[in-house]
Amino acid sequence: MSGEKHCPLCECHDVARYHEDARRDYLRCCNCALVFVPPAFYLDRRAEQAEYDLHQNSINDAGYRQFLSRLATPLLQRLPDAARGLDFGCGNAPALADMLRQAGCHVALYDTFYAPEESVLDARYDFICATEVVEHLHQPGRELQRLWSMLEPEGWMGVMTKLVKSHDAFVSWHYKRDPTHVCFFSEDTWVWWAQEFGVRLERLGADVIMLQR
Ligand SMILES: [Zn+2]
Repeated sequence: MSGEKHCPLCECHDVARYHEDARRDYLRCCNCALVFVPPAFYLDRRAEQAEYDLHQNSINDAGYRQFLSRLATPLLQRLPDAARGLDFGCGNAPALADMLRQAGCHVALYDTFYAPEESVLDARYDFICATEVVEHLHQPGRELQRLWSMLEPEGWMGVMTKLVKSHDAFVSWHYKRDPTHVCFFSEDTWVWWAQEFGVRLERLGADVIMLQR
């Protein structure tokens, strides 16, 4: 195995082989429990965007909006009126931002491929959403820390990502077949993250994580 073997979330070098399939290796961090693919298996930027272009969601797709409502509804319950937020990794059809705007929020968009406006990353927000994003991050530690620093006190970060349940479940898990998925969080990983940053963590349902600054 080549490449760096430290954890891309907590930088710990105490990592162990977790699984391998026909295409990739998977390591697990002994400190934060992140399961991750070593950088040698990352797609290059062009191949990565080609994958994303295949997954065209529609902003008005009822099923997609229903999926996103599992984050939007509890988030809106926690926000003040006319809250200002960022949809980080909004993709090519920012349906969540549309839903939150309809509820009276002001929502900025950022996506490294589809909305690469870096200036929105210099602002402060009442909330930040990252739906189906963190599993794609090559440097999740750095990215999550940067997002966290953009939150106002008592602000909320809402994350949607499927969680690792067990090694047995991981072996047959469809989620790891997407070649752009390189980081797999578990509930333990979010507990570690919340402790590290001294924040309140709420897990809502199978794949919705709410963190309050
Ligand atoms: Zn780690």
